[in-house]
Amino acid sequence: MGSINMNDNQVKSIAIVGGGSSGWMTALYLNKLYNHTTQNVEISLIESPNVPTIGVGEATVHSIRYYFAAMGLDEKELLKETNATFKNGILFRNWMKPNQDGSMHEYFHSFEQQNIANIHDISSAWLLDKKHNQQSYDDAVSVSSHLIKKGLGPKNINSRPYEGIVPYGYHLDAIKMAAYMTKVGVKAGIKHIKATVTDVEIVNGNIGAVHTNLGSHAADVFIDCTGFKGLLINKLKSRESNWQSFEQALPCNKAVAVQVEYPDSESPKPYTEATALSNGWAWEIDLVNRRGTGYVYDGNRLTEEQAQQELLEYLGQDKKVLKTVHIDMQVGCLKEFWVGNCIAIGLSGGFIEPLESTGLHLINASARLLGTHLTSKQVPQSVRDSYNTIMNGTYEDLKQFIVLHYCLTDRDDTEFWREVAQSAKYCTGLEQKIATWKSKVCEYMDLAGGYITMFSDENYRAILYGMKHYPELHLNADKEENKKIYAEFDRRLSQVMNAAMSHQDYLAQLK
Ligand SMILES: Cc1cc2nc3c(=O)[nH]c(=O)nc-3n(C[C@H](O)[C@H](O)[C@H](O)COP(=O)(O)OP(=O)(O)OC[C@H]3O[C@@H](n4cnc5c(N)ncnc54)[C@H](O)[C@@H]3O)c2cc1C
Repeated sequence: MGSINMNDNQVKSIAIVGGGSSGWMTALYLNKLYNHTTQNVEISLIESPNVPTIGVGEATVHSIRYYFAAMGLDEKELLKETNATFKNGILFRNWMKPNQDGSMHEYFHSFEQQNIANIHDISSAWLLDKKHNQQSYDDAVSVSSHLIKKGLGPKNINSRPYEGIVPYGYHLDAIKMAAYMTKVGVKAGIKHIKATVTDVEIVNGNIGAVHTNLGSHAADVFIDCTGFKGLLINKLKSRESNWQSFEQALPCNKAVAVQVEYPDSESPKPYTEATALSNGWAWEIDLVNRRGTGYVYDGNRLTEEQAQQELLEYLGQDKKVLKTVHIDMQVGCLKEFWVGNCIAIGLSGGFIEPLESTGLHLINASARLLGTHLTSKQVPQSVRDSYNTIMNGTYEDLKQFIVLHYCLTDRDDTEFWREVAQSAKYCTGLEQKIATWKSKVCEYMDLAGGYITMFSDENYRAILYGMKHYPELHLNADKEENKKIYAEFDRRLSQVMNAAMSHQDYLAQLK
């Protein structure tokens, strides 16, 4: 983009309001895109020193590595600056009734499925051989599932930056990440303005300037990264007319986040835990210095005190609490993320509850999409429509995937679980798809919406089979051919196990 011819319609200034993950991730991305060779676009980030960031958002999906790598961040530095650990996937606990022996139901959603195919692929071979009676799906198709049981991480000492022996994401301190990105962003030439926006000036359906306690700031394009309040975008189009709530489908609208002291005797787990409780679920995320936990719950059924109490009981009373925060969540997204010359990115644009840790992924996806759409100061409405359509599709896709985790439950112990078991009806087409997946496998073509969602058929199958939703396939299994698939899996597994390093040891050598 560095060599665009100068003309009047070229974007020359972008003001980003908000200095949380969305503000800084977008600023770094656009700065890299427009200014990597010469300074073409002035990028400013206005952040209130008096309004804190949300400060949660500690787990990522694996593709966030490509963002950090593309931004030129040194991975070891990133890990150290954010007290990060690695994430091989998510262990879902208690999302179904207990097992026959009374133990808690568990399944693991990793970032990989081994692609091994003969007549059938490994996933269908496992079904046709009725392996689910002896072996969990995740153990059968994913090597990460074996790594976590032995406390092994996704990288070893020889792994190159952002590469592992299996795909991986991170657990990181969200506040430290924003601070680190501030440092990197300012060094890269982003103008950092510490001021509070007090008014937004609208001129012919566009933002002309934002007024702050330290003066006014004009720009060609404004990006609203002010969090749930959507300070800029809501001025151009009222929240009432522009908001689509997902609360019918996803009723968890509150969270209590509790940081606890890390027990000396334990080493950080290389995976996130998501344990279903009475009216929602609890996350447990290990950083190198503390454990982040929280309860995402239905605020129509539990008070803040009840939720906090239930979470603490679940964690065990011996835990030393470092910090507790109660959060109201607006679950849904805007119809128009881009109105006039303003684009809402991050929580101001939408939020899907954090079950699959998609917040940072959505910011990355939005910034990239903006990069291909923001081609001039006054793009035609059709370009804005394209951006809005893709963003809407992305949120719908993601909503569907998250609802799947709830609606397959057989839990009936509380009203909450009885109701969420019906939640597929609030996702267009999902009931039909789930019915179809009782008689055929879920495949890519069942999902291809053409949007940015990172969850494909492999991920859907991990949830479907993890929650015992198996298709009945009246097909012949060629047991001999399938054995070759399992042998290849075992070969890859032993190769990975031999190459793997303890998660704790990898983190320790970073110091
Ligand atoms: C309970 C919970 C758990 C989550 N877990 C995850 C997770 O595991 N993984 C994940 O990827 N995501 C997660 N998320 C989402 C993640 O937290 C957000 O996507 C991410 O932090 C982006 O927030 P933001 O930057 O949009 O908003 P915020 O962090 O709220 O930042 C808003 C910014 O706007 C500024 N601001 C506000 N008003 C003004 C003003 N008047 N003038 C100037 N500046 C102003 C503030 O100072 C601040 O800098 C979670 C979210 C919640 C609620």
